[in-house]
Amino acid sequence: MGQPEKFRTTCCIAGGGPAGMMLGYLLARAGVDVVVLEKHADFFRDFRGDTIHPSTLELLHELGLLDEFLQLPVQEVSTVGGCIEGFEFTMADCSHLPTVCKYVAFIPQWDFLDFIARHAKRYPTFRLLMEHEVTELTWKAGRVSGVKAATSQGPVEVEAELVVGADGRASNVREQSKLEVIDRGAPFDVLWLRLLRREGDPHQSLGHFKAGKALIMINRRDYWQCGYLIVKGMFEEIRKRGLAAFQENLVDIVPVLRGRVKELDNWDKIKLLTVQVNRLRRWHLPGLLCIGDAAHARSPMGGVGINLAIQDAVAAANLLAAPLRKKNVTEQLLHAVQQRRELPTRLTQALQVFLQNRFLLRMLHRRGKMKVPLLPKLLSRFPVLRRIPARIIGIGFRPEHVRTPEID
Ligand SMILES: Cc1cc2nc3c(=O)[nH]c(=O)nc-3n(C[C@H](O)[C@H](O)[C@H](O)COP(=O)(O)OP(=O)(O)OC[C@H]3O[C@@H](n4cnc5c(N)ncnc54)[C@H](O)[C@@H]3O)c2cc1C
Repeated sequence: MGQPEKFRTTCCIAGGGPAGMMLGYLLARAGVDVVVLEKHADFFRDFRGDTIHPSTLELLHELGLLDEFLQLPVQEVSTVGGCIEGFEFTMADCSHLPTVCKYVAFIPQWDFLDFIARHAKRYPTFRLLMEHEVTELTWKAGRVSGVKAATSQGPVEVEAELVVGADGRASNVREQSKLEVIDRGAPFDVLWLRLLRREGDPHQSLGHFKAGKALIMINRRDYWQCGYLIVKGMFEEIRKRGLAAFQENLVDIVPVLRGRVKELDNWDKIKLLTVQVNRLRRWHLPGLLCIGDAAHARSPMGGVGINLAIQDAVAAANLLAAPLRKKNVTEQLLHAVQQRRELPTRLTQALQVFLQNRFLLRMLHRRGKMKVPLLPKLLSRFPVLRRIPARIIGIGFRPEHVRTPEID
């Protein structure tokens, strides 16, 4: 094997997801030399979330990108609904939020990432290298000094002032760093599948719940992206019962799906997504910082993962852009990023764990008809209460704002 190609940068980001791309964009905009290494050839993957929340839209507004972003095929959704045993209710209403956009923008994540990548490429200090898989951290004098990456053209070695692990829930950077992971446990997984949308179908993305069953349906215009929730470890059992039984389950939750569940004629069309809830005790080492799912994987509940990953990126850029320009990033500064984002992470995870154990798990284990819990009834009776989940989902705890300048 030949010698690896070597180059140097100021900040090397592993992973071009929402956290990595947003951080790369903000640092390049602030005049920092930055390289994002993404292992895939494109952003086109089905299993990413679709929601850009009011907090992220606010950031796009602060960056002067909002009008252009809204030209993309986004679907604006100001209320999020649920249906429990036929009882339909509105869970969250964003129309009163103190933000420029009072709605969640549903857009396939690859469109969002392409958009950020396009804007980042306007800055000469930004480089996005696709099909570069980070395989190893490199060390010098007890400090992370860069990464090694595998490409189809052979190995590459990048030296950097700072390495950022933004490579998601299965982070290799985190694995290599040996940083301690605190596992909060997630008692359910998601089966990810598509069904055709038909004329007359509702527009609203909706969660449907019934004793023992839950199906989330996200409107992607010509098809429904569906997430069928299962108790962790039950997939093999479901497969053994056969496709026909699985199709019947879907129809039982949402009867209008009869006639199209036959599209699911092969288990290859149904992907198992493993849900994790965990976080790093320490997000950093000298020369290394983890953000987004690499620092704290969350449950898909509330669809907040993308937005919180982006909040981490904004906080990191705010605190690190100027020191990176001076090539003077201390571990105290990396710790300041963790301190800034740890409370929102813990609060969100605590809420997700409470809801998944208190409601979701009980519902998935339940047999026979389920009683509608008090909370949906209260939300239905007192519309003002819908502003609370809207605030938590739409803005979250300790929202970030762009403080980094644009440097030409
Ligand atoms: C079933 C499911 C549904 C979800 N739905 C939603 C939703 O609707 N809304 C929402 O906000 N959140 C949702 N989430 C959560 C959300 O997807 C994540 O929280 C969010 O994507 C985290 O962003 P990230 O940038 O930290 O990591 P990721 O989005 O995971 O991005 C990491 C990137 O790093 C790349 N990568 C990985 N390893 C390497 C490597 N070694 N070298 C180089 N690159 C690498 C990956 O290819 C990827 O592009 C969902 C999660 C699940 C499991």
